[in-house]
Amino acid sequence: MSSAARSSSPELLSGPVAICVDRPLLALDRPFTYELPAELGAGVGSLVQVPFHGRAIRGWVLGSTDDIPARMLAVRKVVSPVRFFDAGLLSVLQWVSERYVAPLASVISRAVPPRVVGEEVAGVRGGAVAPLAMPSPTPLLHGPPAVLGRYTGGERLLSAVTEGGGNFVVRPAPGDEVAVAVEAVAAALAAGRSAVVLVPEADPFPATAVALQHAFGDLVAMFLGGDKRARYRMWLDIGAGMYRVVIGTRPAVFAPVGGLGLLYVAREGHTQHREERSPYYHVRDVAIERARAAGGVCVMSAVCPSLESSMVDHVEVAHVGRAWPPVEVVKPGVEGRAPRLVRALRDARRAFLYEPMRGYGMARVCKACSEPAACAACRGPLRSEEGQVRCTVCGAEGRCANCGASTFGLARGGVERVEEWARGVASVPVTRLGPKDTPRPPGEAEVLVGGLESLKDLGPVGVDLVGILNADAALRRPGMSSRERALSAWMEAAAWARVDGRVIVQTNRPNDPAVQALVTGRPERFARAEIPRLAEAGFPPGIPVFRVMGNTELEDALAELRPRTMLATALGDETVCLLALEPGDVAMFGRAVRELAERGIVTRVEAEPHL
Ligand SMILES: [Zn+2]
Ligand SMILES: [Zn+2]
Repeated sequence: MSSAARSSSPELLSGPVAICVDRPLLALDRPFTYELPAELGAGVGSLVQVPFHGRAIRGWVLGSTDDIPARMLAVRKVVSPVRFFDAGLLSVLQWVSERYVAPLASVISRAVPPRVVGEEVAGVRGGAVAPLAMPSPTPLLHGPPAVLGRYTGGERLLSAVTEGGGNFVVRPAPGDEVAVAVEAVAAALAAGRSAVVLVPEADPFPATAVALQHAFGDLVAMFLGGDKRARYRMWLDIGAGMYRVVIGTRPAVFAPVGGLGLLYVAREGHTQHREERSPYYHVRDVAIERARAAGGVCVMSAVCPSLESSMVDHVEVAHVGRAWPPVEVVKPGVEGRAPRLVRALRDARRAFLYEPMRGYGMARVCKACSEPAACAACRGPLRSEEGQVRCTVCGAEGRCANCGASTFGLARGGVERVEEWARGVASVPVTRLGPKDTPRPPGEAEVLVGGLESLKDLGPVGVDLVGILNADAALRRPGMSSRERALSAWMEAAAWARVDGRVIVQTNRPNDPAVQALVTGRPERFARAEIPRLAEAGFPPGIPVFRVMGNTELEDALAELRPRTMLATALGDETVCLLALEPGDVAMFGRAVRELAERGIVTRVEAEPHL
């Protein structure tokens, strides 16, 4: 990556250059050589126009090449004065292309926001990754660290951020999530390095982002949301070296900021850190690679770190001693109302009740014909939500599969039902946060009821009581990572309680490793039990997984590559294969898959699918 000593005018190239053509297809995913005339004034990262199979298309200059074909066509023109990457950033983009078996063209397109040509003309030109133009702020770190000084590995993290590298998994104590991020970024800035902070969501605006902007003001680029023009303007300004801290969602991991000392992944286990379109990269992995390439630190922060992060070579950073509220485990009781929770709710001034199930209840039986309730359209289960009964599978209005009637006997349970009974118990007002409400912490005298969509980065919350309902249902959900997601949600909810507050979890499985991890505040207890379980299923965490689609020859072709695990499903003429690979085999696999794509056997590759 660039250093402060780097010249501000980007290097010009001429002669044979490697071009990545803007055709995001695995079958064309290799560099093509063209002659670059010196007078075009182009270089690494330039967007140019080249002739390709008789047509004029765009492509990016990757660098000089010795791979000279018998017949070499010339680059026609330069399309933009902007350099979209430099050699350092290109190496990260190429790593993404290889690791996720994705065309380099789609990686580049995803790493750079859509162009707004007007901003290019008006703006700064050249140098995708700028040298640091901003001065280091001085009045930032005085005295010993405020938060990380109380963490094992905290001093080690701060010194690495100052002048070293490596991976750190940080487990913030309740209420510390934001402060830890601010302190780590402050250390990078004080050492003259820059930082990229990756948050999973832009809405609601994460408390971590608010605090960083408050702490570092004009040094901070908010690369979060905004319209197309504003996003592109911000990206150009970052590339011009106008900022020292970049805060953003996934694409910010490629932000063209120089002098990187810290890549900080907030809530690293969050599902939104995975890109849902090609290239299906995970921000955590890219951040680790970019930090490695830049000689900086990657921090993975989460109250409940992911199993994947536990497989990465890292230093653990966690609060010294116990910094976790007491967690009481009780049996659910009638309709999920344990007497102890009911009593605690009566006394609580500020409380949060976490209920993962939506709605008011599930339809059990048809009131007209007494048959078990099922959707008339697809036989799926029916749920009552916001006063309406609908199918949870196809979304159709609830009609009995047997007689077409639309009144059902309900098995009550879900966030609306919890709101109802909590109103009858609590001595302060009860509010339910629906999926469309803006997440917020409970007010001064309030009980808040909500599901997964309530658990956002809201800063320190500190309520008297957190109730975790329906824990057993969350554990029973299908999917290989459902147990991990359940625990992560419980721990985020529990972290809303004051350390001297109360957490009450309702479960019939007190000895389940996930429940034990919640009780102790130690997710590693869960990891020790869960990792062997996933390994036995063929998909241990931290192992590259791909979903590959293709024709009827696909299964045999992929079996020849000897994947660690392969599950194949045929759907008519299409075959879908789910594979787990040994990490060292990804490059070989990628070459083979690109060849199979050229032969039409592979049609699509999706990396790291949610399992
Ligand atoms: Zn249905
Ligand atoms: Zn019926």
